[in-house]
Amino acid sequence: MPRISCKICRREGMSLCGREKCAYKRRPYAPGVHGPTGRSRPTDYGKQLREKQKAKRLYGMGERQFRNLFEAATKKRGNTGEMLVVALETRLDNAVFRAGFAKNRAAARQLVSHAHFDVNGHKVNIPSYVVRSGDIIRVRDTKRNKGPWKNLSESMKTYQPVSWIAVDAKEMAAKITGKPTGEELKQPFDPRMIVEFYSR
Ligand code: ZN
Repeated sequence: MPRISCKICRREGMSLCGREKCAYKRRPYAPGVHGPTGRSRPTDYGKQLREKQKAKRLYGMGERQFRNLFEAATKKRGNTGEMLVVALETRLDNAVFRAGFAKNRAAARQLVSHAHFDVNGHKVNIPSYVVRSGDIIRVRDTKRNKGPWKNLSESMKTYQPVSWIAVDAKEMAAKITGKPTGEELKQPFDPRMIVEFYSR
């Protein structure tokens, strides 16, 4: 995935790029619009599309991949919107981000693709790999003295723990203990709108 430009942050109405100095923070309105009030009222379709694009970009996914993940979520028992969020959250790259091993999802995805992790003792370099309860994600021995891992305990200080991952920073390992629930299913996008978008 190419790096997200701040034009997209401004279009989606939220900072998605991971930049400290995101342009959205300075100009929190859509690009091409001359000021915060110039935006026209979107249609239902427009709103649903925006929510879908927001989610897709937040997790750094392509259209086909996102669509496939949605289709899989519709086949799961339970609320499709929630299943979609669980499917997004339990991608390996996101779990690495949630474990505090990377400062944003793009960085997490790069670490995964560069084979920095074992899952249950086996090298996994597929960002879309789905983690399950009981899985152990661990920084591979050959990568431990590499750049990103030198100050892990330092960068771990600011991370926000989630209920479904138990992190052992000293061991450079994280255990998946369940699934995101409750507040953790709340997202900066509305999953119901995405369900509506694909149900049209
Ligand atoms: Zn930005």
